[in-house]
Amino acid sequence: MTEPAQTVANWARNITYTAREFHRPDTLDALRALVAGSAKVRVLGSGHSFNRIADPGADGVLVSIAGLPPVIDVDGAARTVRVSGGVRYAELARAVHAHGLALPNMASLPHISVAGSVATGTHGSGVGNGPLAAAVREVELVTADGSTVPIGRGDARFDGAVTSLGALGVVTALTLDLEPSYEVEQHVFTELPLAGLDYEAVAASAYSVSLFTDWREPGFRQVWVKRRTDQAPVDFPWAPPATKALHPVPGMPTVNCTEQFGVPGPWHERLPHFRAEFTPSSGAELQSEYLLPRPAALDALCALDRIRSTVAGVLLVCEVRAVAADPQWLGPAHGRDSVTLHFTWIEDTAAVLPVVRRVEEALDAFDPRPHWGKVFAVPPAVLRGRYPRLADFRALAETLDPAGTFANAFVRGVLGD
Ligand SMILES: Cc1cc2nc3c(=O)[nH]c(=O)nc-3n(C[C@H](O)[C@H](O)[C@H](O)COP(=O)(O)OP(=O)(O)OC[C@H]3O[C@@H](n4cnc5c(N)ncnc54)[C@H](O)[C@@H]3O)c2cc1C
Repeated sequence: MTEPAQTVANWARNITYTAREFHRPDTLDALRALVAGSAKVRVLGSGHSFNRIADPGADGVLVSIAGLPPVIDVDGAARTVRVSGGVRYAELARAVHAHGLALPNMASLPHISVAGSVATGTHGSGVGNGPLAAAVREVELVTADGSTVPIGRGDARFDGAVTSLGALGVVTALTLDLEPSYEVEQHVFTELPLAGLDYEAVAASAYSVSLFTDWREPGFRQVWVKRRTDQAPVDFPWAPPATKALHPVPGMPTVNCTEQFGVPGPWHERLPHFRAEFTPSSGAELQSEYLLPRPAALDALCALDRIRSTVAGVLLVCEVRAVAADPQWLGPAHGRDSVTLHFTWIEDTAAVLPVVRRVEEALDAFDPRPHWGKVFAVPPAVLRGRYPRLADFRALAETLDPAGTFANAFVRGVLGD
């Protein structure tokens, strides 16, 4: 299927892709032929990124692999699943759960594609949980000449191949590690003070912990604590429990949120904040997020508190999460246990961008790495200094994609070509 790409926008509708053509091949052979016959290609996953990372540019071809026959092959004995890159986590989680197995973690919403998520370093929360890429044991790439290149854990290229920004080829399938299915309870607490916050202790109080604030007042309006029922009971002495169901954004309908009040349920119905059956086709918001070394968490939060009123003016909600260090060369949590400072902004780009710059100034001393899929203004030259293995990634891209078929303006900026 081919249509002009001018009609294709991302989920938030702040980006319209500038490709020459948009293709949705329905066979692997058609995909291979398309890639081999195109000089510039970028893949669009589920379109949940907020910047031009997926945009091939006016002379390029944008490809969705959502039309390829979906594969979700669970190997119960090996505890792995081989999944097509275009499958979304909601669908994958249901299939895996039906085999009595589980993924270690999920992002806040399950409607994002597997290949697109791991390409940008997407993560959930948990001091012991790496990003979603940490579960990947192999990626299968269709490279520029149309051939398939599998790269598995143990291959010297692997740490560059998962969080690849889509710069190496089309990820048609991935194999992921699974574990036995587990249950999770979700407890919500309210009004956690910033003064005296022991972030490390709060973040480590359960399997996955998220703090939320609107920055209209100091401190955190809500804390979402997700406890695995096979782990210690929740002991949360820092804030009182909520007395009613809450949405992270005050005033939004709680019916869309996953079950609270400690009711145990399957991992995939508690780890995301939002229910899989609630599927927004677009969203009136923008997002930014920065990953910082976790020991800097309190100082960074205090730096944000000092510009609280500026931030609050264009903010829907800010979420603070933890991610374990990641070996992926371009993973924003590369080499350091991280705290992540996420901002859901109003949809007004012109009003939001100056505040994004203020946030980046406030956090600059803490060496923040922006989420690859969200709005940021950090200059590429500064970004390059924050990734010690960038040269290795550049060499890998030059080997797998010597003509730069998969390098768009975003990627060229990051790699410094
Ligand atoms: C409402 C909302 C909630 C979110 N929650 C979280 C969260 O909890 N945690 C978090 O870390 N992020 C979160 N994000 C960000 C989101 O996870 C990332 O933007 C992610 O990349 C989205 O995946 P996608 O498939 O939509 O990617 P796209 O935006 O479609 O693409 C992202 C990148 O991946 C590449 N790509 C996609 N598919 C392939 C493929 N098959 N082969 C090669 N390259 C490919 C694209 O070329 C592009 O470079 C959220 C976004 C939204 C809109």
